[in-house]
Amino acid sequence: MNFNDVHDRVASISAAFALDRSSRQVRRHLETSDFDKLRSAGLHLVGLPVDAGGLWKSVSESTRPICQMLRSLARGDSSVALVCAMHPAVLSYWLTAPAELSERSLWRHQCQDIFTSVRDGHWWGTITSEPGSGGDITQSRTSASHGEGETSYFISGQKHFGSGSGVMSFMVTTARPEGADLPEWFYIDLRNVPWDGSHGVTITSEWDGHGMIATQSHSLKFDNFPATRMAWSHSLLPVAASAGGFIGCLFTAVIVGILDEAVAEGRKILSTRELGSFERTEWIRVELDHWLVEQAFEGMLRAIESGADARCEVLKGKTIIAEISESALTRVCRILGGSSLGRRSPFGFWLNDVRALGFLRPPWPLAFETLEALLELD
Ligand SMILES: Cc1cc2nc3c(=O)[nH]c(=O)nc-3n(C[C@H](O)[C@H](O)[C@H](O)COP(=O)(O)OP(=O)(O)OC[C@H]3O[C@@H](n4cnc5c(N)ncnc54)[C@H](O)[C@@H]3O)c2cc1C
Repeated sequence: MNFNDVHDRVASISAAFALDRSSRQVRRHLETSDFDKLRSAGLHLVGLPVDAGGLWKSVSESTRPICQMLRSLARGDSSVALVCAMHPAVLSYWLTAPAELSERSLWRHQCQDIFTSVRDGHWWGTITSEPGSGGDITQSRTSASHGEGETSYFISGQKHFGSGSGVMSFMVTTARPEGADLPEWFYIDLRNVPWDGSHGVTITSEWDGHGMIATQSHSLKFDNFPATRMAWSHSLLPVAASAGGFIGCLFTAVIVGILDEAVAEGRKILSTRELGSFERTEWIRVELDHWLVEQAFEGMLRAIESGADARCEVLKGKTIIAEISESALTRVCRILGGSSLGRRSPFGFWLNDVRALGFLRPPWPLAFETLEALLELD
């Protein structure tokens, strides 16, 4: 199995999803059968190293092909694509860790456990965000008390935005061990865990987004729920630094895929109409925006492929694409007319879906704070 084979299969699944768009876009939940199909296509293997039977090679070699898959998938279903993006995003914490860690048996065993779970077809997601943290992972108020084993803990706290809740087997999160200066990374096993509070997990609110409405990005409260600490301690910021550029590209790929589809569909509709000067001018602007998004995304990927620290380029690109996608979709809706505001048209859904990018980590305020700091270093 290689990236091209998996991409082709994912693209044909996405094309089938697109045929069912009108019912998918109003859906407020995920269907397990979609993830079964994507697993059969081999998409889960993007988070498994080549020498363990997967597709992952390195950030510089694997980012582009994984982004191509997510971009194609997003054309058929935005929510499924965003949830799937979380899988390689969080597995990259282990995949991009320093090679020296493999000298430690605890680390080797943890990697083996995680990679076995992926090979077995389990999906990984994340429920790191906490209300009021502004997307800043250092602000976690979730506590972690030590259990019996070196990496065994019990976490308690309120989390939200757990995209893929109920479909993902394992979720990565953060919590602060007693007395620690900074939170640590943990993962939790949510297989067959009820959300009624009887086993330490309570659903406090179901995801009710205006966009990405089927992502099941629920809010969950944890009470002494078992969690495994990443076997690389004090790694909160190094993990975020080494994986950050990669994750930014994944999220952006989903939004670029939505824009690709919206522009293609818009072009098709407009080709059947006689356009006035407003529509013609605005459509040229849409085409320019789409071109600009393509260039910015290409710039992000090339920065990653250079092997140098690409965080600044990736964050610039993610932020620019978040802004342009929103304005491009707004223009498309204006050109197409009032029906685009109706729920029978796909465009209003896409407009709200692309709005997610600016809120995904780092959300707007944190993105601009980070850019300020990174640009001063330039
Ligand atoms: C579609 C979608 C999917 C997502 N999926 C995931 C996911 O799978 N996993 C995940 O971990 N995250 C996910 N996120 C969350 C995302 O990564 C960000 O962490 C989140 O959007 C940041 O929230 P915020 O800054 O907008 O809001 P908040 O954290 O609520 O903060 C907003 C601002 O208000 C301030 N503020 C808010 N409440 C208070 C308060 N009570 N007191 C004082 N100040 C306050 C904050 O400091 C901040 O400046 C997702 C987000 C979206 C939109």
